[in-house]
Amino acid sequence: MTATPHFDRVALIGIGLINSSIARLIKRDGLAASMICCARRQETLDEARALELCDDYTTDPAEAVRGADLVVLGVPVGAIKSVAEAMQGELQAGAIVTDVGSVKATVINDLRPVLPAGVHFVPGHPVAGTEHSGPSAGFAELFDGRWCILTPEEATDEVAVEKVRAFWAHAGMRVDLMDAKHHDQVLAITSHLPHLIAYNIVGTAHDLETVTEREVIKYSAGGFRDFTRIAASDPVMWRDVFLNNREAVLEMLGRFSEDLASLQRAIRWSDGDALEELFTRTREIRRSLIEAKQA
Ligand code: NAP
Repeated sequence: MTATPHFDRVALIGIGLINSSIARLIKRDGLAASMICCARRQETLDEARALELCDDYTTDPAEAVRGADLVVLGVPVGAIKSVAEAMQGELQAGAIVTDVGSVKATVINDLRPVLPAGVHFVPGHPVAGTEHSGPSAGFAELFDGRWCILTPEEATDEVAVEKVRAFWAHAGMRVDLMDAKHHDQVLAITSHLPHLIAYNIVGTAHDLETVTEREVIKYSAGGFRDFTRIAASDPVMWRDVFLNNREAVLEMLGRFSEDLASLQRAIRWSDGDALEELFTRTREIRRSLIEAKQA
């Protein structure tokens, strides 16, 4: 069993769903001697302060990272570079910087030229979340039983990687190490495309002229309801995911469109066998997911 991770000072940059969950976990288990969080808007900071998530609060990323041995970037992936630029001058040598962004390759490319030598960057993605945002949405158990993917480059300090791994393991996560590009392909099909489909189907239903909005809401238990939960996810976060994982999402979307076209053909030609064969296979996938306790 690995020792419980401990940090002198943790700086949480962004204090939304993910970082506020991290704050609660660190506080609950005493994983840091002190903790500061940084938000862009004063009202977010006030909310975090009212919840007593940290010891110190600031809107200045440079002030936040001063003296921190662990910095966690928990802002939308499109904002990571500008936040890193704002804090780079105050990062102390030997500090570990990690992130929780849903896309990895562009984040690494954005941060590589910005972070000073002697600071260890360990890119990460806890694959856990909800459709809610902001400091009040978090809870310490969010990560329990889920997977976390770390995508360090080969030259990354092993001790730093191990410390970040131990942190997520302590949070209850199973941790995999993976190449950043591969992470982006895997997440394109398991997370990004499902969100795109949900956004699309809910948008289509909203634009229909032959079925009223009242009817869509009234009869939503037929399947639509599950899509609306996903389609309620944070618009800015998801805008940034698609803009930053463009290649992998477009590749998966191409495959998806081809398969959709063959389903369309099966329906047109009353090919019940093709439909039943697919629906049987997909039911098996659901069963494996339940067995793996990821349902
Ligand atoms: P969130 O609840 O929306 O919180 C985002 C935080 O980032 C807020 O504190 C916000 O501050 C700050 N922020 C937003 N735009 C900023 C900017 N341009 N500059 C500086 N700060 C900015 O987000 P979240 O769900 O915790 O997601 C954070 C990260 O985790 C994202 O990179 C996301 O891809 C990743 N992630 C999310 C999930 C999920 O299910 N939500 C799961 C895994 C990973 P203000 O409130 O002051 O604007």
